[in-house]
Amino acid sequence: MGRISRESIDQVIAANDIVDVVSSYVDLDKKSSHNLFGLCPFHTEKTPSFSVTPLKQIYYCFGCHKGGNVISFIQEIEHLNFPEAIHFLAKRVGIEIEEDEDERWQHKREEQKLIYHALLEAAGFFHRSLIGDTGEAARSYLTRRGTTLSDWRKFGLGYAPNQWDALYQYLTSRAVSDAAMLKAGLITRSSRDNWIDFFRDRVIFPIIDLSGNVLGFGGRALQDQGAKYINTMETAVFHKGSYLFGLPQALKARSDQLIIVEGYMDVIALSKAGFDNVVAPLGTALTLQQARLVQRHSKEALLLFDSDNAGESAAMRTFEIFSDIGMKAGFVLLPKGRDPDDYIRDKGPERMASLLDNPYDRSSYRLTLAERKSRDPESGSLRLLEYQDVALDILAEEENVVLAELYSDQVARKLGTSTERITQEVDRRRGRQRADKKSQVTAAVSGTATDMLAMRRPKFRA
Ligand SMILES: [Zn+2]
Repeated sequence: MGRISRESIDQVIAANDIVDVVSSYVDLDKKSSHNLFGLCPFHTEKTPSFSVTPLKQIYYCFGCHKGGNVISFIQEIEHLNFPEAIHFLAKRVGIEIEEDEDERWQHKREEQKLIYHALLEAAGFFHRSLIGDTGEAARSYLTRRGTTLSDWRKFGLGYAPNQWDALYQYLTSRAVSDAAMLKAGLITRSSRDNWIDFFRDRVIFPIIDLSGNVLGFGGRALQDQGAKYINTMETAVFHKGSYLFGLPQALKARSDQLIIVEGYMDVIALSKAGFDNVVAPLGTALTLQQARLVQRHSKEALLLFDSDNAGESAAMRTFEIFSDIGMKAGFVLLPKGRDPDDYIRDKGPERMASLLDNPYDRSSYRLTLAERKSRDPESGSLRLLEYQDVALDILAEEENVVLAELYSDQVARKLGTSTERITQEVDRRRGRQRADKKSQVTAAVSGTATDMLAMRRPKFRA
């Protein structure tokens, strides 16, 4: 987007009466001669403290102290940046926005427009293919996974037919150029040197941004050959490390928490069970950029990953990313071997809700996993020697002394010993961890690799 002229901004503000705009989100009552009141859309409340002053064209909440003009209201409620909010309001009243931009920027924007258009047409084609005659196998797959037409609509799911160039032919008939299709990542060159569709015989998950643009697609194979999931390759509009599947739908839930799951189908399963505040990265581990996106839209991330070794270490890495950017995160732990989708189907939404209400912090998560791993698979009894060693290391690494004491108490009971004993041993290990760190630094400075190796002790990795 280019720079929007001052005149256009003023024009947009003048054309969008704040009472009209706010009224489509909040029921307003006239309470005093100058103000209208309603329930605040930005915090939870039972009595109205959200006010709108038509004379000044401003809003203010006496509860959460949010306030501003019609543009900041739209920014806040639609999760848009300033230029996006201007465009949103301009569209609402049918105003053309004047933007001054240099030629190169203009060219890039034109190209983006063509790509977005191609992607939108493709999304429509995929969706109709799912609903129509060609989509039977895809529909039966999605039905087996417990989803229905309304879920497919909500997420705009689709099907890429089992043909070489069904999409290519369709887009050509819609006057979309080969160049636009290629730049959108929708087609590729075949070995016979003609254009073929990138996605074939796959269930399609569109990746949509907060302005409603389709950016790219994820595709799940219906047959057992080839990669199970593929995504649109990096294009001018699609960067798989910087967006999240399900975000536009998730933000409608207006929750302070965002649930992070591993896959597209997990998002749909949770949403179907009534947990709408759920997103997934696009086929990779969560990136720093995606973590920042989560941070921008919520106060706490709940990590709900598959309960297997891969899921557990992915959850731990993801937790560290959130911790690095100072964002609160908690672990939601499923029974061994479960994924979110099958857990909900087996146990129901209430049980999932209670797991989500009681997330684990870092140490309690690691302790619980340590206990699981130290249980004899046959008898179910705890292998005490194995457990105590790992548990004590975890306690020694806990920086919060209150938590360390709380968990020491729990570990003591499991081991049938006293909290004092545990605390003593934890202190000893803390001293050792500090000494380890020190000698690692010394070794690194003196630069001898063998010293470094000698210092390393096997450490618990979740
Ligand atoms: Zn408020």
